Amino acid sequence: MGIKKNHLERYRQALLAKRREVADKAALAADIDVAPKASEDMEQALNSYEHELAISRKEGFWSQLRLVDEALRRMEKGTYGLCLECGEEIAPTRLQVVPWARLCLLCQEDEERRAALDKRDESYWLQGELVEMEG
Ligand SMILES: [Zn+2]
Repeated sequence: MGIKKNHLERYRQALLAKRREVADKAALAADIDVAPKASEDMEQALNSYEHELAISRKEGFWSQLRLVDEALRRMEKGTYGLCLECGEEIAPTRLQVVPWARLCLLCQEDEERRAALDKRDESYWLQGELVEMEG
């Protein structure tokens, strides 16, 4: 393992700080969620929009929390800083910015490219025969 102990401790502190921050925001989002509904249509529409926003935000918080927790668990197991995909060490410059990173930059880009492709396939599927394949 190439990560120095003092660096590891700094990442751990960053992860714990992030965990607190996200947990606070998630608690806040939960408050928005139970806010009373207004009776007027416009307000109701606005509320349901905010409601959905709050839900998606909350889901965002949960997945963020999960990422942070996973990173902390990897730290305990001593596999922190290793890419889950290729096993290579994740660049320290990346870990400093995203201490909960699961993948190295290359694998992350790969995954994003795949996700973008999946999305494109989906829209081809949805639009059916009206869409002509490129190339
Ligand atoms: Zn990788």
